[in-house]
Amino acid sequence: MPQPTIIAVGELLVEFVSHREGCELRELSEYSGPYPSGAPAICIDQAARVGAATQIFGAVGDDNFGNALIERLQTNRVDVSGISKVSDKSTGVAFVSYYADGSRTFIFHLNNTAADAIATDEINLPDGPLIMHVSGSSLGNPKLRTAIECTATVVIERGGQISCDPNARPELMSDPAVSAALQKLIKKSTYLFPSDNDLEFLYPNQSSQTAIKELLSGGVKTIALTRGEHGSTIYTDNNAPLQLPGHTVVELDPTGAGDCFCGTFLAMAALGHSTEQCGRYANAAGAMAVTKRGPMEGNSNLDAIEQFIKSNPAKAEA
Ligand code: ATP
Ligand code: MG
Repeated sequence: MPQPTIIAVGELLVEFVSHREGCELRELSEYSGPYPSGAPAICIDQAARVGAATQIFGAVGDDNFGNALIERLQTNRVDVSGISKVSDKSTGVAFVSYYADGSRTFIFHLNNTAADAIATDEINLPDGPLIMHVSGSSLGNPKLRTAIECTATVVIERGGQISCDPNARPELMSDPAVSAALQKLIKKSTYLFPSDNDLEFLYPNQSSQTAIKELLSGGVKTIALTRGEHGSTIYTDNNAPLQLPGHTVVELDPTGAGDCFCGTFLAMAALGHSTEQCGRYANAAGAMAVTKRGPMEGNSNLDAIEQFIKSNPAKAEA
């Protein structure tokens, strides 16, 4: 059986990170950027670095932000032939600023930029088995949502698998069409990467444990609950949950750690590793990701992840 290609359809953005805590993107601050970003791009970049075959479908403007994105992904061996350049729109941009408690505020320039200029009929999926990764962050945009839903239907018809990181931010989910699309994709997923907050938001009347049990009995095969500095817990339908404690690192910029976790987990799965290996490597890669400023600057290849696990073992099992 050939290895599956990991694909994503969604927003390609560059991100600027404020150096001043609490500036709220309102007061003057210095910024770093343009950092290549967009949740699907971060995940796919990481999966490629780990060694999986990958392809991303999206659009950028005919400008240097777009060039920076394409060059980064290409350097890391992502197939970028599904990225179109739109001449009359600018590349999407995100700005982020942190507060002292680690929470953050974003401004996205996504709607009506090149980031949502995706034509569903131009998505030519590669031959062979597929794993399609979806980030809930893409579903708030109607054009991206349509492209993702149509592509997911084709992937499933072809016998491929769906992976979903809900990223269920309440401000995004106030539109019932968004939460309906997310719930539908979750039910069709083989891999699910929720945080505790995602589960609380998606299943407010249930405990996380009950929600996980129901998702597994409904057909989801693997649920990796991401828990920030505490690591992750992996649930599969027939085994006891696997607690994977976090690695101790100095957190500089946590944005993108979840996407990096997903990219690592999926790439390891595509390369044929056990669920436990997938989780351990994803945990390490997520920890590495938060140590660098910029959403995909902390992405890493397999050698670096192995080196990190040796030199910085996970905390003792809880
Ligand atoms: P985001 O949506 O912002 O990308 P998330 O909430 O989906 O993030 P997290 O749980 O924050 O995802 O991070 C994903 C994984 O990265 C965690 O499960 C953990 O393995 C690792 N990780 C994140 N933050 C830290 C940290 N401070 N220390 C060690 N590991 C971390
Ligand atoms: Mg997340």
